Amino acid sequence: MSITKQILTSDIGHILDDALQGRRPSEDDCLRLLESDDIHMIGEAAGVLARRRFGKTATYINNIILNYTNVCVTDCKFCAFYRPPTHAEAYTLTLSQIRARVKTAWEMFGIRQVLIQGGHNPALRIEYYEEAFSAIRSEFPQVGVHGLSASEIDMIARVEKTSTLEVLSRLKDAGLQSVPGAGAEILVDGVKDIISPKKISSNDWLRIMEEAHSLGLPASATMMYGHVESYQDIVEHMYSIVRLQEKTGGFMAFVPWNFEPNNTLLQADGTVTHGTGGLRLLKMIAIARLVYDGLIPHIQSSWLTNGIGMAQMALAYGANDFGGTLIGEEVVSCTGARSTELTDSRIKGAVLQAGYVPTERDNFYNML
Ligand code: SF4
Repeated sequence: MSITKQILTSDIGHILDDALQGRRPSEDDCLRLLESDDIHMIGEAAGVLARRRFGKTATYINNIILNYTNVCVTDCKFCAFYRPPTHAEAYTLTLSQIRARVKTAWEMFGIRQVLIQGGHNPALRIEYYEEAFSAIRSEFPQVGVHGLSASEIDMIARVEKTSTLEVLSRLKDAGLQSVPGAGAEILVDGVKDIISPKKISSNDWLRIMEEAHSLGLPASATMMYGHVESYQDIVEHMYSIVRLQEKTGGFMAFVPWNFEPNNTLLQADGTVTHGTGGLRLLKMIAIARLVYDGLIPHIQSSWLTNGIGMAQMALAYGANDFGGTLIGEEVVSCTGARSTELTDSRIKGAVLQAGYVPTERDNFYNML
C-alpha cells in the first residue's frame, strides 16, 4: 500500500494528510498524535515535510560547550551536573581559562559557535559575562556566542537587582548573539514544581525569550521530556512556543531531548526509573516537524542523549539539523550518557551513512 493510502486509512490519517497539505495540527490533533502508536507513519509524513524544505541536506555546526561553572543554588532534581557553592568539586572558569579554551578550539577545530551554559552562581556579577563575551567576539570574530538560558539571565538580573531586559541588553552589547532554549524543560508549572521548584516559571521563560527576541537576539526552543510530564503537558509546552513564535518569529530551531535519569535526585527518590529511549525520540522529532513546519525553521536531532544511530534515524523522521560537535560538554556527561562529543568528521560520516548531505552551518543556520 502506498504511504498516501496508509495515511488515509489510519485513525490519525486526516491529521497527517492535513499536515502534508500545509495545515498545522490543532492542539487536540497533537494530543492524538502523541497517544498514537503509529510512530513510523507519523515519521513518514514528517520526513516528507522535511525533505520538501531541505531536500537531503542535513546541517551541523562545529562548536564547543563552555560549562563555565557548576556552582548552582537552584537544585533541580533532574540535574547531575551542579554542585553547591562550597562543594569540593565546585568550579568556575576564569576569563583566561575561557579565552584559552576558545583559542584552542578555534585553532584545532575551526569552531563557529561557543555554546555557553552553567549553573546559577550567585558569586558571578554581570561583568564576568560581559568580559567573556566581548573577549570571544573581539578575538575570534567568526565564532558565534550562543549563551545563557533564560534562567541564567534571570539569576544575573537577581544578582544585579535589575531587569532581565536590561541584562539581555547589556549582554547583547558585550557580544551575546543568540540564546539557547535550556531552562524550559516542560513549560507547565505543575511539572516544574516537581522537577525544578526553585527555577523560573513557565511564564518567566516565555517572557525572557520574548524580551530577547525584541532585542534582536534569536533563540532556540528546547523540550526536555521523559520524566513526570503527561502528553497533555507536552501539548501545552509545544503550543506555548507556537504562540510566542507567531508573535515574534524569534526561534531559529526546536530541540527535543530526553531526560537522562542517572545520578539525579529524580532517580534517587524513585520518581523516574529509566530513560525513554529512541522510539520516543523519533516520535517527538516527527511531531515537532508536523507542529512547527513553516513556523520554526529547524528541527534538531538529539545525538547527545540517544546516540548517533538514533540521530541518523531522526533525519528521516523530520529533523534537518544534526546539532553540534559539542566539544567539552560536561552536563549530560555527568549522567554517564554514551557519548558527549563528536568530531566534525564523525558527524559528516554519520550523515553520509544516513543518505544525507552533511553541510556545515554557522550560529545563525547559514550554510558555510
Ligand atoms: S539544571 Fe541548571 S539550574 Fe538546575 S541545578 Fe542544574 S545547573 Fe542548576
